[in-house]
Amino acid sequence: MQTTIRHSVSFTGVGLHSGQPARLTIRPASADHGIWFCRTDVIGCDPLIPARWDVAEHSPLCTKLVNKDGVSLSTVEHVMAALAGTGIHNALIEIDGPEVPILDGSAAQFVRGIVKQGVRLLAEPLYAIEVLKPVFVQKGDATASLSPADSLRIDFEIDFVDAAIGHQQKTLHMANGTFVRELCDSRTFCRASDVEMMREKGLALGGTMENAVVVDGDEVLSPGGLRHTDEPVRHKMLDALGDLALAGAPILGLYRGYKAGHTLTNMLLRALFADPTAYRIVDCDAACVARLPGTGLHVSDLAAVA
Ligand SMILES: [Zn+2]
Repeated sequence: MQTTIRHSVSFTGVGLHSGQPARLTIRPASADHGIWFCRTDVIGCDPLIPARWDVAEHSPLCTKLVNKDGVSLSTVEHVMAALAGTGIHNALIEIDGPEVPILDGSAAQFVRGIVKQGVRLLAEPLYAIEVLKPVFVQKGDATASLSPADSLRIDFEIDFVDAAIGHQQKTLHMANGTFVRELCDSRTFCRASDVEMMREKGLALGGTMENAVVVDGDEVLSPGGLRHTDEPVRHKMLDALGDLALAGAPILGLYRGYKAGHTLTNMLLRALFADPTAYRIVDCDAACVARLPGTGLHVSDLAAVA
């Protein structure tokens, strides 16, 4: 069955790139509503923005959604990952600013808030998107692909010259609380050399050493160091789950990313949906539901959240 959050939950903080404060509230929604954002600070035009791949604008550093009136919301990927990873299919997310708060740079606080409020089962059946044949996209030396699998698996590989990151590869099956235990507390990261460049472009204005892991060569500059030795690749997997959630329904398939980012994952969804022979919509029976992200999640899994 489809789900929603049992009670509303709010989060307050600044946006990573805009530096602007905002209050975000996840509210329950009825079956077949899907995930929608509502910009409560916008007057005179449509404040509703669907959490959907076809309204995502290409942006290298975050996922930005723009509705038909040009109303936008930036950095939706971490809250989308939290919803997907806890198995929430329907919600109205109100926000009074242009960017989702970065909080601690991970999805941990969103997950904690959602799990604390609980999940409500709705009366309508759930459907999923089954990948039927491989779909592949490439940009420079970065690649992303989806291929057939009976459940969502994410395989990610990154390769940085900075020794503090270096080469990292990880594969995870997304069912049974995996996202909460393994991925949700991994923070966004950047290289010290990129910070000045981003600031000059008016980006990362809300970034701090606490809400982003900053590395310089073989050094982790953020106080306290890393939460996991491979925290960067785990964060890339978190981003991938959030960006794939813009498909509008759970995906049954293997996602592989090599040096991929938000733009490439969005290009992948566009390639998937451009080919009607590459996927089909399937009803989720009990066996299918048992393999979805969020299924099998236990409140004790939260102990792993920093
Ligand atoms: Zn991220």
